[in-house]
Amino acid sequence: PSITRGVTVEIPKISWDDIGGLNDLKKKLKQAVEWPLKHSEAFSRLGVSPMRGILLHGPPGCSKTTLAKAAAHAAQASFFSLSGAELFSMYVGEGEALLRNTFHRARLVAPSIIFFDEADVIAAKRGTGSSGSTTVGERLLSTLLTEMDGLEEAKGILVLAATNRPHAIDAALMRPGRFDLVLYVPPPDEEARFEILRVHTRGMKIDKDVDLKQIARETERFTGAELEGLCREAGIVALRENITANIIHNRHFQTVKSSLNPALTPQEIE
Ligand code: ATP
Repeated sequence: PSITRGVTVEIPKISWDDIGGLNDLKKKLKQAVEWPLKHSEAFSRLGVSPMRGILLHGPPGCSKTTLAKAAAHAAQASFFSLSGAELFSMYVGEGEALLRNTFHRARLVAPSIIFFDEADVIAAKRGTGSSGSTTVGERLLSTLLTEMDGLEEAKGILVLAATNRPHAIDAALMRPGRFDLVLYVPPPDEEARFEILRVHTRGMKIDKDVDLKQIARETERFTGAELEGLCREAGIVALRENITANIIHNRHFQTVKSSLNPALTPQEIE
């Protein structure tokens, strides 16, 4: 991936199969992303304006970023990734310039997906700033709105944004023609946890005694990120026990699991 002043660009290698669970969501996203990017001329033929933005919301570590990357991979789209927090922390005017520049470059190499992580930081409700003058956030938001409105003529560009604070997003962004689709990315249920464990042990040497179904049952409130960590740690425990080990056993998974506490609270599981 190339990096230009805080933006990374690449066509990601992650596929839908690398994401455990979330089958309905993957299907919705697939249509929403692949259609407008791959068939933009069909949309203009019928005079239908394609979707311009999708907001993904849900607790941290539950694959919002990974979904956006898989969508870009499926559409073979260039993936421009920007962090709301990073834009916010730039010098006056620099964040806006970076935003405009990213949209410009995305047009040149379309199909493209522009992904905003921590979108609430730059798309926070206006008028909540402490001072009377326009705040950094307000200027970034108005630049983003201008760029998104300009996408009308641009073909094959889609904006995806992720947040775990959807209520903090300014209503102006939620109007049709901006974030037309809002998708909730939930924490994994037992079935999804099993699928996630399967994804992350795919390339690992694990013994027959490892019961992923049971581990899935016993990891309530674990996020995908935590389950991924659990698999990696189990491997490390096996190696720490015996550096010449060639297989990971159930007891290694159990050791790690009993030392972990899920970060999500029961309130975060809807
Ligand atoms: P944040 O809000 O913190 O940015 P996020 O929702 O964007 O989090 P990701 O960055 O996509 O989460 O996921 C973090 C890690 O967890 C990734 O490396 C990914 O491999 C793993 N992960 C999360 N959910 C899943 C899943 N459903 N299947 C496979 N891996 C997952």
